[in-house]
Amino acid sequence: MILDGKALAALEREKIKAKAAELGIKPGLTVILVGEDPGSVSYVSSKEKVGAELGFASRAIRMPETASEAEVLKLIAELNRDPSVHGILVQLPLPAHIDENRVIFAIDPSKDVDCFHPYNFGCLLAGNQIVEPCTPKGVMRILDHYNIDLKGKRAVVVGRSNIVGKPVAVLLLQRHATVTIAHSRTVDLPAVCREADILVAAIGKPNMIGADYVKDGAVVIDVGTNRVDDASRPKGYYLTGDVDFQTVEHKASAITPSPGGVGPMTIAMLMSNTLELALLAREKKV
Ligand code: NDP
Repeated sequence: MILDGKALAALEREKIKAKAAELGIKPGLTVILVGEDPGSVSYVSSKEKVGAELGFASRAIRMPETASEAEVLKLIAELNRDPSVHGILVQLPLPAHIDENRVIFAIDPSKDVDCFHPYNFGCLLAGNQIVEPCTPKGVMRILDHYNIDLKGKRAVVVGRSNIVGKPVAVLLLQRHATVTIAHSRTVDLPAVCREADILVAAIGKPNMIGADYVKDGAVVIDVGTNRVDDASRPKGYYLTGDVDFQTVEHKASAITPSPGGVGPMTIAMLMSNTLELALLAREKKV
């Protein structure tokens, strides 16, 4: 079975749009982009576009690669004070001269739409998060939509980043899976992965997970979104996941394609979180 994140994301966007309209709320999302990393430029444009389609006050603030840390912090302080802004997202990675931790720390936790701030990350670990981080939330929505039971199942997450691997593992744990987090120093990764009923790949290595990593009937979620240079393609590159879809598709009981799986869900969940934060801000005012 193909787990169609693209179609599900379209449904989610409709639901979010309808809910915002019903509640008479205009969620405000600001994405900050520093520099011109090609992947980030395209992600930020998509986020801006989807936000506008849903009727959100959605905007991207683009700063040059040379912007100083102080300038970024000043902008965040302004956005923290602006009551029309409910969600702030700093697109990572930042240029090397800017301290990512300091920037993330500066975001008001009640506007931290991707759960990056250590306060929110701690709440997530403790099981009482305000909002779930967007990509992991998208993964969980896909699993739920297709009624994939997690209780007592063996889950292996390959990747331990703060953005994807660790929070996905935490959410799977919250849902009673037995979770292993694997990474670049894991010994005999294929054997570890073959123990998984649910295998989540968040690595950043094109097509690395082949059929020899997958147990018969496993559910495979491919978070990887990798640009591979290819002069024969119109854009000069193509996108592919961490999973070798062609071979794994036959072994897995269910699999997300990439592109067309977790990626569109991430953006939909960003909008869902912005709406949730806008509602919380409204409740606080009452
Ligand atoms: P990071 O580079 O931050 O983390 C990659 C992780 O993979 C690290 O924990 C690393 O291990 C592990 N890893 C790297 N090589 C190997 C290997 N050979 N064997 C086992 N583990 C390995 O990446 P992100 O978590 O930010 O992103 C992962 C992927 O997900 C990327 O393709 C990214 O583009 C994609 N992504 C997609 C999103 C979406 O919306 N679909 C959103 C965010 C990311 P170690 O810690 O030991 O170095």
